[in-house]
Amino acid sequence: MVDVLVIGGGNAALCAALMAREAGASVLLLEAAPREWRGGNSQHTRNLRCMHDAPQDVLIDAYPEEEYWQDLLKVTGGLTNETLARLAIRESSTCRDWMRRHGVHFQPPLSGALHVARTNAFFMGGGKALVNAYFRSAEALGVQIRYNAPVDAIELDGERFVAARIGSERIEARSCVLAAGGFESNREWLREAWGQVNGEWVAENFLIRGTRFNMGVLLKFMIEAGADSIGDPAQSHCVAIDARAPLYDGGICTRVDCVSLGIVVNRHAERFYDEGEDFWPKRYAIWGRLVAYQPGQIGYSIIDSKAIGRFMPPVFPGTRAGALGELARAVGLDEAAFVRAVEAYNAACRVGTFNHAVLDDCHTEGLTPPKTHWAQPIDKPPFYAFALRPGITFTYLGLKVNEQAAVHFGGKPSPNLYVAGEMMAGNVLGKGYTAGVGMAIGTAFGRIAGTQAAKAAFESKEGRHAVA
Ligand SMILES: Cc1cc2nc3c(=O)[nH]c(=O)nc-3n(C[C@H](O)[C@H](O)[C@H](O)COP(=O)(O)OP(=O)(O)OC[C@H]3O[C@@H](n4cnc5c(N)ncnc54)[C@H](O)[C@@H]3O)c2cc1C
Repeated sequence: MVDVLVIGGGNAALCAALMAREAGASVLLLEAAPREWRGGNSQHTRNLRCMHDAPQDVLIDAYPEEEYWQDLLKVTGGLTNETLARLAIRESSTCRDWMRRHGVHFQPPLSGALHVARTNAFFMGGGKALVNAYFRSAEALGVQIRYNAPVDAIELDGERFVAARIGSERIEARSCVLAAGGFESNREWLREAWGQVNGEWVAENFLIRGTRFNMGVLLKFMIEAGADSIGDPAQSHCVAIDARAPLYDGGICTRVDCVSLGIVVNRHAERFYDEGEDFWPKRYAIWGRLVAYQPGQIGYSIIDSKAIGRFMPPVFPGTRAGALGELARAVGLDEAAFVRAVEAYNAACRVGTFNHAVLDDCHTEGLTPPKTHWAQPIDKPPFYAFALRPGITFTYLGLKVNEQAAVHFGGKPSPNLYVAGEMMAGNVLGKGYTAGVGMAIGTAFGRIAGTQAAKAAFESKEGRHAVA
């Protein structure tokens, strides 16, 4: 029998497998995806938010624990567990040497990244290179890896893990780490969680920014088996992305970053939110939800030629036209209504000194909703439109843990079942998001879960029951 079974093949699973193997345990990792699609959402990531008290290689200045914590507190509106959050924050200051030992390289941010040179360490080659390095290291250390291995059930004896099942196959282990992601690829569950507005399913047109394999099968199984859960199923990271993005795995290059430079209208050519409310890095993650609640779950980001060169262009070029009416026709909006909406906006603009790097004084007057910064008339052809859809990054509903990453049943920690990554991120992220914290949580709790699982396996070998 293997000592530690790790379920999942993303960052959290790999961190757990490597730590358990380093502790001397035999480890089997089960990844639902085939080898070429391994790595879950982690393969799409770019960076890790790191606490540091002084400049460190690619990180400038300092980002102390307290500031990191205050940032997290602010974005979650207090829906966070301080003990667990601080644990992840502190771990983020010490994990990078370990990551480097397993082949992960870091680089300073490229221009166009969202103002994160001080707080976030970027992976050289992105998340794909990170997961490849971890898989390489795991293989070299003797971790057994199985692809095309979607676990569909867990066998429990009370709170104790006994075996995992893939169909009729039964895999026993002395301990187990669940790291199988959220349920962001499960349309049915998303529909149920987000519900209906005006007779339309809010999640109907969501595009999944990451892997198709995070179906939440084990999350659902564990909750139904009596594991304690945390978080709201409708809370998630959801951004507005290019409507032409593929259904899965579009990754970061489908994000549309020109919203604050123009206006956004819905299917009826009506504006519905202040595009200039705050800096784009602080607002991009609310636009998925805003678009989700519009009719047909679609929006259109409209700019003129003045905006070109001021934002990172998405992978697909926008629809381009020499006149507003022509642009409306090209994207299928009512021409008269669209021209009226743009003209009303243009007439309401009070242009001061345009500066996209500060909260400038260009704003609208007498317009509902207002645009409070960077309001300039859309009047210099060519004009561009980008159709937007909600792009779901990951869900926040998870399993409740303690500082040892143990799964809980009715408040009682399991002696040999642990959970890491998106499957428990909701303990720290009740809502909101700050860039790089997903990988910080997954790395911290993946490493803790792997260490604890190895310990539990040794204790069970010696005939002792681990106390979680
Ligand atoms: C486009 C995009 C960009 C992102 N950028 C960043 C970033 O720069 N920084 C950051 O911190 N976060 C980022 N995130 C969020 C980040 O991806 C997650 O927080 C993190 O990767 C979660 O790691 P994980 O190991 O829990 O999940 P995943 O990496 O998603 O891994 C889950 C794994 O479980 C496997 N699996 C699922 N079900 C089963 C099953 N039943 N049996 C066996 N295996 C199963 C999947 O195949 C997958 O390998 C981004 C996400 C996306 C989609």
